[in-house]
Amino acid sequence: MKKSNQSPTPSHRPDHRVVIIGAGFSGINMGIRLKQQGITDFVILERAGDIGGTWRDNIYPGCACDVPSIVYSYSFAQHADWSRSFAGSAEIQDYIRRCVRRYDLAPWIRLNAGVSRASFNEGQGSWTLELDNGERISARAVVSAVGGLVNPSMPEIAGLDNFRGEVFHTARWRSDVNLTGKRVAVIGTGASAIQVIPSIQPQVERLDVYQRTPPWVLPKPDFEIAERTKRLFANLPTAQRLLRNTIFSASEAIFGPLVILDTKASSVLEHVARRNLVSNVPDPALREKLTPKYRIGCKRVLLSSDYYPAMTRENVRLVTEPIARVTPTGIKTGDGKTEKVDVIVLATGFRVDIGSAPFEIVGRNGKSLSDAWSNPGSKAYLGMSVAGFPNWFFMLGPNTGPGHTSVLVYTEAQANYIAQAIGNLFDRRLRYLDVRRDAQDAWHRMIQGRMKYTSWTSGCSSWYLDKNGENHALFPGLASEYVWRARQFRPEHYDATVYSASA
Ligand code: NAP
Repeated sequence: MKKSNQSPTPSHRPDHRVVIIGAGFSGINMGIRLKQQGITDFVILERAGDIGGTWRDNIYPGCACDVPSIVYSYSFAQHADWSRSFAGSAEIQDYIRRCVRRYDLAPWIRLNAGVSRASFNEGQGSWTLELDNGERISARAVVSAVGGLVNPSMPEIAGLDNFRGEVFHTARWRSDVNLTGKRVAVIGTGASAIQVIPSIQPQVERLDVYQRTPPWVLPKPDFEIAERTKRLFANLPTAQRLLRNTIFSASEAIFGPLVILDTKASSVLEHVARRNLVSNVPDPALREKLTPKYRIGCKRVLLSSDYYPAMTRENVRLVTEPIARVTPTGIKTGDGKTEKVDVIVLATGFRVDIGSAPFEIVGRNGKSLSDAWSNPGSKAYLGMSVAGFPNWFFMLGPNTGPGHTSVLVYTEAQANYIAQAIGNLFDRRLRYLDVRRDAQDAWHRMIQGRMKYTSWTSGCSSWYLDKNGENHALFPGLASEYVWRARQFRPEHYDATVYSASA
């Protein structure tokens, strides 16, 4: 698509060529891509008061990415100054801000603009978005970049509402609550918990960790990046790119052992994780409680070199008895014991929104996306296009998450694909592009057909699976395969509708 002469668009207009929903990593990538393509009549609507998505929300102590920063960053905006191999959340948020500045995207971002409903107008080939404040915005094309793990999952534990101390979720961290000298309970032992536990352990009087299922934990090669390495990356970006490609290839090599069932290599990974446990936890009884009883990779594998050591500290207690209820001053377990606590930290994960409509979306013939996805589960061609919902594109839609590498590899491929699709829509002056049902069904069959060969369906419960035990979250292949499949917009997989003379 040729560069157009459109001038930059103020972000408060009621109609746009494109609306992007969400100003996290995905939405910002999409905005950069549209600008590069010469499409400047767009707005990024963000429901919160700041950009950054998950890196704005997750500020709990110890919060960091468990994917190396050199890969967990845009390939087109390499950052020579990462302070550590696995950067912390504040540094990642700073990187996102830098990218917004570098690509001059701020004028296109509108904060505090939550979308509550979307409906398609077939005659005009446009979407009407209703905002939380009652405002309406129309767009020819919409990109939903709302993220998949955004809304905290609050556990249904009896008595939680009547707890008299402080209770909060890791993704809603209360920096105003001083934990020094307090009796703290952490509920959950997932990716967030294993970061927060070692960070607060030295500070608190007592730390009770309530574990339902022990995670597999591999050592995390986290280290400070030397100044001379940063200088090398700044002066010789090719060196950084080479390292990025090498680390990415190494993560791809993990896919087989982690995800594909019945590979001998997965027992090697389990061996490394067991060694990590044995070398850090000398007490056999504690070790037994921390040993997972399911196949590695079934749930997300965690990386940490300080979680197990923290669990051996004198002020830490691992509780594996199920929680019976929360009392006004503590937590009562199934064995009838009650422990008094001052603060409860809910490290209980997120309501998984991958594969469910983020708000009411009404497509052609008045059909809602929730209905379209109710049976037999969510389907989207390449995880981006849904039949009956023309000119609408998902980033991180159904089955496009990774279990082994950087999610940004997928979302970057999606931004490129969607930019091509939108370019095609405008260049051909189409009313709308609607993905063909046969293309969508073939994609869905291919994805679901492979699921039975993955560790994800090997018999544990995880956020990867929906209530029917189906995986509509992850892509069952290498990231490189997804990138290859999404490398080029394929118009033959879409029905193109032109404007009729009377429209
Ligand atoms: P999570 O992995 O879903 O872990 C939630 C934990 O809470 C699990 O241990 C779960 O136990 C437990 N739990 C949930 N409800 C409970 C209840 N009612 N009673 C007792 N325990 C309960 O959530 P997360 O740790 O927030 O991580 C979610 C995802 O976010 C990760 O998988 C990852 O993709 C992402 N994340 C990434 C990073 C990073 O460094 N990149 C950091 C944090 C999070 P069960 O296992 O028994 O269900």
